[in-house]
Amino acid sequence: MEEYDVVIVGGGVAGLSTALSISRKAEATLLLVEKGTVGDPSKTSPFTFPDTVQRFQLSEAVLQKYTRFTYRSPTGVVASFKYEKPPFVTLDYQKACNLLLNQITKKGTVNVLEKTEALDIEATRTYLKLSLSNSASVLCHVLVDASGSSFFTSRKLGTKLPALYSHPYGEFLEECRIEEPEEMCIFSGNKYGNGGGWMYPIDRKTARFGFATVTRSTVYPRDIVERNYRDALRNFYPYNEMLADAKKKRSESGTIPIGPLMKFVQGRIVLVGDAAGQATSWYNEGVRPALESGEICGNAVAEACEDGKLHERTLAKYQHLWDATNKRSYSKGTRGASRTFLGRSQEDWNNSVRYQASLSREEMIAIIRYNRWPGSRSNLHSRCWRRLRNFVRGFG
Ligand SMILES: Cc1cc2nc3c(=O)[nH]c(=O)nc-3n(C[C@H](O)[C@H](O)[C@H](O)COP(=O)(O)OP(=O)(O)OC[C@H]3O[C@@H](n4cnc5c(N)ncnc54)[C@H](O)[C@@H]3O)c2cc1C
Repeated sequence: MEEYDVVIVGGGVAGLSTALSISRKAEATLLLVEKGTVGDPSKTSPFTFPDTVQRFQLSEAVLQKYTRFTYRSPTGVVASFKYEKPPFVTLDYQKACNLLLNQITKKGTVNVLEKTEALDIEATRTYLKLSLSNSASVLCHVLVDASGSSFFTSRKLGTKLPALYSHPYGEFLEECRIEEPEEMCIFSGNKYGNGGGWMYPIDRKTARFGFATVTRSTVYPRDIVERNYRDALRNFYPYNEMLADAKKKRSESGTIPIGPLMKFVQGRIVLVGDAAGQATSWYNEGVRPALESGEICGNAVAEACEDGKLHERTLAKYQHLWDATNKRSYSKGTRGASRTFLGRSQEDWNNSVRYQASLSREEMIAIIRYNRWPGSRSNLHSRCWRRLRNFVRGFG
């Protein structure tokens, strides 16, 4: 049986970013197992941020840069922002994953097994034993679960799953008539699905368009999200005009878990990316969080490998560092997410778009990226209330 320091299950951005950080910082033996091919083809071109692209050396995978951002309700309320420097880009997901893989394989310390599924896991005193679909088993000291919404280890071990799920359906379209190919649009409201939607032009003739529904369940009938999408394609002005003669190149669908798990480290198993529910609950943005969390996770695993201390206490550094950077915005976002997606009326969404139209363009980006709403830090009333509450609790 082959033996590795670390086995990573899943060749998406989370697994690859983790592998990259480990291979940069430690002389560990690494195996990456992917049940399909590296870079899940059901994700065609997610939006992300230029600084993320730069940091992870993904510029060759950029399909389009956006200098305008529009937040639009299907009933016609619009907030639009213009930027000198593009604040958003859209990526070719498969290419981005392959660029990460190239960076890792240059180091030569990683074995990649594509078309091989991790089937089962068993813990012994010193090792984790992983059974694979090629009839082999491997032993490792640490297992990184980056299996996305398959939740490989959580399902095997029966541990908790995230609270909410976005079920997107969209299409990559050709022969469109797009006036502003540098305008990225996100849709609010519940007319075509309570999870909103997106329109990311690639050029004047090609675009990605879709809608999502948010539920508490890991599965949702695809025909419903697809029907909502077709309805929007026919009726949602001005996209029904731009996309009237468009032809489908490919469809994209899946599940985005929303709401991070309480614990990312369980013994010698660590969870990262969608498997840990790290996509943001406010804009369901999962690529940047998966890349950044993979980096934090990989650094902690590499440090533990170098020190020869591959156990829960040392691996927990990943959780501490992630919490220090992210916990505040995620806790706030997750607390409000069920109310937002499951309880808001179309008029509530419209009011939210109206409010966001009154913000500056920098404030809008801070909301999309960090869930940071203007005034939330400097709000005197809530600060005084918090202090009073803590003071009273101090006597309790
Ligand atoms: C339609 C759609 C549109 C999206 N749009 C955006 C967007 O615009 N911007 C954005 O930031 N995010 C977007 N997201 C979310 C984003 O794509 C994910 O959050 C991100 O890809 C998560 O990366 P990951 O590596 O955790 O998971 P994945 O990319 O899902 O990778 C998991 C990998 O694990 C493999 N795997 C699973 N189980 C096993 C197993 N047992 N053995 C071996 N391999 C296994 C899978 O085949 C897969 O390749 C979208 C998602 C979808 C579905």
